Amino acid sequence: MSNIVAIVGRPNVGKSTFFNRLVQKRQAIVDNVSGVTRDRHYGKSDWNGNEFTIIDTGGYIIGSEDAFEVEIRKQVELAIEESNVILFMVDNQVGLTDMDKEVAQLLRKSKKPVLLVVNKVDSNKNIDDTYEFYNLGFEQFFTVSSQSGSGTGELLDEVVTHF
Ligand code: GDP
Ligand code: MG
Repeated sequence: MSNIVAIVGRPNVGKSTFFNRLVQKRQAIVDNVSGVTRDRHYGKSDWNGNEFTIIDTGGYIIGSEDAFEVEIRKQVELAIEESNVILFMVDNQVGLTDMDKEVAQLLRKSKKPVLLVVNKVDSNKNIDDTYEFYNLGFEQFFTVSSQSGSGTGELLDEVVTHF
């Protein structure tokens, strides 16, 4: 099976929360793969009968700013190599950060589809705050709340079209 979806983004945007929501109650087997991919969690999910593997990146142990940059870069490069669709997650409560812009820069090299996922849009009244993320320049833009699950259906409808 080659339906692989990776979630990338800076720490605390909600990648693991989203990942857990997707693998929950399905095949909740989450492996910690050793070696080069030790900081990645793999889980199984499906949407309307389309099974896929989802990768949660991160879990970094950060020694310094530099080490962090290297780690993020590695995770993004692996995601570009390994997955069919990349979910680039940002945090609507914090807003657009320099680190988001750096991740965006790395993802522009990808020939794989990149879907921008603006997380922590917990209420419709937060929608107006999301426009600054259009500046990142990704055509496909989704707003979700990983906590409540809202918006995830629309996102997954799009994801499965890329398998
Ligand atoms: P990661 O570092 O990107 O994996 O982020 P986590 O999944 O660990 O989440 C970081 C924090 O954001 C946690 O306190 C989560 O509970 C919180 N969080 C995640 N998703 C949402 C959301 O949709 N809304 C709100 N309000 N908080 C969220
Ligand atoms: Mg995490």
